[in-house]
Amino acid sequence: MSILIKNILHNNQRTNIFIENNHFAQIGECADIKADKVIDGTHKAIVPAFYNTHNHAAMSILRGYSDDKPLFEWLQKDIWPIEDKLTPEDIYIASRLAILEMIKSGTVFFADMYFFGEQTMRAVAEMGIRAAISRVEMDLFNPEMTTAKKKETAEFLSFSNPCPERIIKCLSCHAVYTVSDELFEYARDVAAKHDMYIQIHVSETEQENLDCLQKHGVSPVVKLDNLGLLGPKTILDHAVHLSEHDIDIIKKRKAIISTNPNSNIKLNSGLFMFEKLYSQIPEQITLGTDGASSNNNLSMLESMKMCSFAAKIQANSALAGKSIDVYKVATENGARAFGINAGKIAEGYLADCLLLDLNNPFLTPNYNLISNLVYAADSSCICDVICNGKLVMENRIVPDEQNIIFQAQALSEKIKKLK
Ligand SMILES: [Zn+2]
Repeated sequence: MSILIKNILHNNQRTNIFIENNHFAQIGECADIKADKVIDGTHKAIVPAFYNTHNHAAMSILRGYSDDKPLFEWLQKDIWPIEDKLTPEDIYIASRLAILEMIKSGTVFFADMYFFGEQTMRAVAEMGIRAAISRVEMDLFNPEMTTAKKKETAEFLSFSNPCPERIIKCLSCHAVYTVSDELFEYARDVAAKHDMYIQIHVSETEQENLDCLQKHGVSPVVKLDNLGLLGPKTILDHAVHLSEHDIDIIKKRKAIISTNPNSNIKLNSGLFMFEKLYSQIPEQITLGTDGASSNNNLSMLESMKMCSFAAKIQANSALAGKSIDVYKVATENGARAFGINAGKIAEGYLADCLLLDLNNPFLTPNYNLISNLVYAADSSCICDVICNGKLVMENRIVPDEQNIIFQAQALSEKIKKLK
């Protein structure tokens, strides 16, 4: 499969881009190369796609199910009880809805933390994007659940990855307030043995820090470090309330942070210290949406804007959260964090990209495309999405999208009755 994109705007210049198999093969003088598909880029620009480093994709089916509550009450009273009733097939339908929304808003990769990861893998494999899929570890300090979770993890590990080229199998531990030391240690050993990524919610709320300090005498970051869980393949989700000591540890261990501004603001969890952390560990900061039920969408365009605005308020400075920095965090940092050779439009990189409609009012005038993307654009600006050298959305159409919506609507009717 090859794609030739002719006369497209790239870094403020018109050029031609030849994609062969799954990577950018040539940029520049290649307008005469024969290709399976030719795209006229005259009114378009090409930019890297988004890499969403924290999601609970199937929670898209719970969008609007419960809102306007603090994190713990929201989880315990509304979210966890209904999640217990979802079946594997429900997760597949819900994952397809999430992936449809992600493709439409320019995301080609998401790191997921949820149940029935096999079903989410199935949806990712079919729909053509990338993901890091885990099965969530959470035992609520109940020894019977610890045993059950270990068994489920063993099953997840033996499940055959339907698309190793695009899907990374990884682990996740929910948080220090839901996972026992025994399960943390088990996950640590499994990750070390198989060289896997681990995703963990950490210091999302002040309450989490206070409880951890009271119970263990240390912060969540120190606790995880004491358990040997922090390293370059650890993704720390949220990381809103960090001390100087916590930051030093994260820096030393080269752990990755996924900031989720929309979720943090909606749940009033706090404001991530973007500027402070980006100035100290720029390569370790990435961006996520969190699940759609606490956001309430999976648009990285919205998350970039919120990330920048939250950074400005948090640092009390209009200079904080610059569009160019936030854009880098949402694209190349996210890809690099998961070892994906993408996030840049350059020869040799994996061909993941967005083609933008320069006639869209949100991108007009176009003095600064990155500024427009971070501060002005919405999904309607994206006309085509390419992942791994293949079009996963063409002229805003994703294959089978009507069916995906109908199935999700039917599932939501079932969920209403389960309430
Ligand atoms: Zn989360």
